[in-house]
Amino acid sequence: MPRDGHGRIIDYLRISVMDRCNLRCSYCMPLEGLRFVPDEDLLTADEISLVARAAVSCGFRKFRITGGEPTLRRDLIEVVAGIRSESPDAEIGMTTNGILLPRMARDLKDAGLDRVNIHIDTLDEVRIRQVMRFADVQKIMTGIEAAEDAGLTPIKLNSVVVRGDNDTDVVELARQTLTRPWGVRFIELMPMGDGDESKLALSRVVSSEETMERITDSIGPLIPVPATHPSDESRNYQFSGGIGTVGFISPVSDPFCSACNRVRLSAEGKLLLCLLRDDEADLRAVIRGGGGVEAVSHALRQSILLKPVGHALDEGIHASRRMHEIGG
Ligand code: SAM
Ligand code: SF4
Repeated sequence: MPRDGHGRIIDYLRISVMDRCNLRCSYCMPLEGLRFVPDEDLLTADEISLVARAAVSCGFRKFRITGGEPTLRRDLIEVVAGIRSESPDAEIGMTTNGILLPRMARDLKDAGLDRVNIHIDTLDEVRIRQVMRFADVQKIMTGIEAAEDAGLTPIKLNSVVVRGDNDTDVVELARQTLTRPWGVRFIELMPMGDGDESKLALSRVVSSEETMERITDSIGPLIPVPATHPSDESRNYQFSGGIGTVGFISPVSDPFCSACNRVRLSAEGKLLLCLLRDDEADLRAVIRGGGGVEAVSHALRQSILLKPVGHALDEGIHASRRMHEIGG
């Protein structure tokens, strides 16, 4: 098992396969001024498979495909099948806004994907256009149904809570867990990007404590559910009689850095050592410089040793990349 310089086991790789998206969530992608990785700079499906093989040889056991919006990648099925063939026993998940799932959920399952996390910030058709610009509740719901039908379960739903946009909509989302077997998770807004953008984000953070209070005041008490894995970043609860769970992810008010077990691969092949810092290593340069599985494994192991102990939001340090470039 690979360990970082602070003794943490690192066995989880999040792979961004695409930095473009069909939505423009207000906290993730501005409407103008975006620059995307040119196609020739994106890792190919074969290069992603090579990184997966190297990661498995180092002891990685869990992968998550993300973006941007991963379902926009035309060869996504090939990418999933490639990772699966390198890691028959690994857990492979994907994070998506769900809109394109109806046309590909079954093929993704057949290619070896285990399950999906689907992003939906509110069930209100008007407010969703404010926060997840260009989204449509009904389309995301159809995506959730397609994922369920294909067996990409258990389904988790991610909602980023933004003051003034969807902070009161958490109640209806949480209520779904009374009748649906979903893990609905509320995520504190993280400051991403440069200068004014991240300052604005910090002013709109709603703490998990406040979100939880709003939910319990409206619906009733939440009972803690024991963590299934020490590195689960979500603290999970259930309503009495509920069949799903309500989770809280608190990177701002209660960071889980000490239990962090993950590193990230950006769409252009940079290994990112911390979500909220800029430390990175260029795996694409290793691969395109002729390096094979051993060279990539070596680069992975060496980079992991340099993983920072934690983020430093308190000191005003945060990643200058936006979330669509990193994958969340
Ligand atoms: N497009 C897919 C989606 O939205 O699920 C995958 C990529 S998206 C960058 C991954 C996750 O990052 C999303 O579930 C979203 O909830 C989360 N996210 C994006 N920007 C964020 C921010 N500033 N703070 C907290 N979470 C954020
Ligand atoms: Fe797209 Fe996901 Fe970013 Fe929203 S959070 S803009 S769906 S990449």
